[in-house]
Amino acid sequence: MSFLDDVFSKAKDVTKAAGKKTDNLVKISKLKMQCATINNNIRSTYEKLGNTVYDMIKSDSENQTVLLGVVSEIDDLYKQLERTTKKLEKLRKIYSCPRCDEKNKATAVYCAKCGKRLVVTDSYEDNDIYVDVDIDDDDDDDIGFPSVE
Ligand SMILES: [Zn+2]
Repeated sequence: MSFLDDVFSKAKDVTKAAGKKTDNLVKISKLKMQCATINNNIRSTYEKLGNTVYDMIKSDSENQTVLLGVVSEIDDLYKQLERTTKKLEKLRKIYSCPRCDEKNKATAVYCAKCGKRLVVTDSYEDNDIYVDVDIDDDDDDDIGFPSVE
């Protein structure tokens, strides 16, 4: 019975891992859309800035406060874009191994350098998208990989 339990729990783990990978892809496409939206907003805010300047010149009434307001809107959008891009990069490309700091692809299940198992967490709001799991230590970790401390 314990053998079947073991098989069953392993199968569940695999299903869970597959689910998280899909989640990742969904998150990546959502973040891509967010980036596109922010880029559109940046463009239209530049346009707004241009219109504002145009109106001021035409009416010969310069209002620095209004201009600075629009400029800081653009700055905020760039910050948003940077944050979103970083999240995207993290999900799509690289992740630093919690054990040896090796840069791994986000699709990697094990660290390429030390063989540490890398698991995707649910939240991409976190700084780290993988967490350390202390399971399967006897059969998965460190086999055929040099351990780096
Ligand atoms: Zn590592």
